[in-house]
Amino acid sequence: MAQPSTTGGCLCGGVRFELTRPAEAAGYCHCTRCQRRTGGATSVQARIDGRTFRLLQGEELVQAWRHPDGGFEKYFCRECGAQLFSRNPDDPAQMSVRMSAFDGDPGVRPSWRTFVAYAAPWEPIPDDGIERFEEGLAR
Ligand SMILES: [Zn+2]
Ligand SMILES: [Zn+2]
Repeated sequence: MAQPSTTGGCLCGGVRFELTRPAEAAGYCHCTRCQRRTGGATSVQARIDGRTFRLLQGEELVQAWRHPDGGFEKYFCRECGAQLFSRNPDDPAQMSVRMSAFDGDPGVRPSWRTFVAYAAPWEPIPDDGIERFEEGLAR
């Protein structure tokens, strides 16, 4: 098997990052915030240890936004709008990287679906047998 991808970036190429260790877990989120943020029915992300994350270039392009009601800060490229990663502002070791941001196959596969109680009515949740949670999933 090929080595898991540990590098990635945004759509315009301005932002580049790498992980010092491959991601080990991933999941889908069906919440309404993720729907608005991504333009799709779900957001899919790999959980990582923030201490393994290195921003290589484009720091000036990385914009964070946090919902007024709280939650992780969502980071995106302000040039091209690509969603990149999220981080717990109270514990930077808790991070997720958007699966779409990796250059290649990060190796890990989604193994849970959170906030399925809020799933988009226009896209059925696939019957893929992975664990579902009505609300969130504690880290
Ligand atoms: Zn960009
Ligand atoms: Zn979500």
